[in-house]
Amino acid sequence: MAVTVSTLPELKAPKGSGGFLVKNLYLSCDPYMRGRMRPPSPASFQLLTFFGFQLCQPIEGFGVSEVVDSDNPEFQAGDFIAGMTGWEEYTLIQKPQQLRKISRNHAVPLSYHLGLLGMPGFTAYCGLYELCSPKAGEFVFVSAASGAVGQIVGQLAKLEGCRVVGSAGSATKVEMLTSKMGFDAAFNYKEEADLDAALKRYFPQGIDIYFDNVGGEMLDAALLNMRVKGRIAVCGMVSQHAVTDSGPGIRNISNVIVKRIKMQGFLQSDFLHLYPRFLDHVTAHFLAGDIVYVEDVDDGLESAPAALAGLFTGENIGKKVVRVVPP
Ligand code: NDP
Repeated sequence: MAVTVSTLPELKAPKGSGGFLVKNLYLSCDPYMRGRMRPPSPASFQLLTFFGFQLCQPIEGFGVSEVVDSDNPEFQAGDFIAGMTGWEEYTLIQKPQQLRKISRNHAVPLSYHLGLLGMPGFTAYCGLYELCSPKAGEFVFVSAASGAVGQIVGQLAKLEGCRVVGSAGSATKVEMLTSKMGFDAAFNYKEEADLDAALKRYFPQGIDIYFDNVGGEMLDAALLNMRVKGRIAVCGMVSQHAVTDSGPGIRNISNVIVKRIKMQGFLQSDFLHLYPRFLDHVTAHFLAGDIVYVEDVDDGLESAPAALAGLFTGENIGKKVVRVVPP
């Protein structure tokens, strides 16, 4: 991997411009970042909140940082913040994006603001509650269930009294889902020759809610197993990132019609007005011990590219984070 060395940016923002310099402590590895590496300006990017990465510039992503110098009265040296930053040791932030201050008396580890209390946890919260309206006794299926989003979806659904089954890509992850995160059952999709048969085994009465993190063949199999008036939150399609041809495609989409399934894609950024409510809800459940959270931390900026790539081969166990400054 090529490492670019540049000089520490001076805080050059004129007074009142709102610029501030931060020291990056933790960086978040997220699957959407793969999409930002495609050639610029595909039509779909115009609908997204983020654009392609700039060549020869540090990668941009969510991070937790400490303000070291500021020309912005709202942010002072010593403040901890979570929001968009660069994959570099120090970043000069001139246009704060999805940025919030973390209380100095934070009761939750700083890095959790990239997962449990950050964008992935929020994605779980708004996707589950706003799109799926879970009710006690309903059958919920979550794919990529042990990851940053999936682990929170499953545990929130359990708190609502649902029966929750997750799929994941290794025996360790499957074990973690049932023994640590309280899922009712879990299975390793890589060991299932027939995903439809696997879902019929775990959901003999069908699925009310499918929280789809992977797309592809799993979505196709879930469509066959949805109950009438089921809901599908189309959160992500991580299985499709490496697909170069169109493959067999989704064959079972007509189930959406005959079963009157509500299937909706979403971006967490559609729901940012709910962020304070999410923070209260999830923080309270975490501090009460109702929700556990698993993260997978690599040390050093140089580990970041491999950490990101590992999301697409399932190497991460829980939310993948890079600690820029080792303890
Ligand atoms: P994860 O922490 O779950 O990491 C990605 C996981 O995806 C891997 O660990 C791996 O788990 C699984 N995976 C990788 N390749 C495949 C494959 N070919 N088939 C099936 N599973 C695969 O990531 P996140 O929780 O951060 O993200 C989960 C999904 O949510 C992604 O699709 C992401 O794009 C989406 N997302 C959407 C948002 C929105 O606003 N709509 C916001 C945030 C995330 P395993 O070992 O189990 O295969």
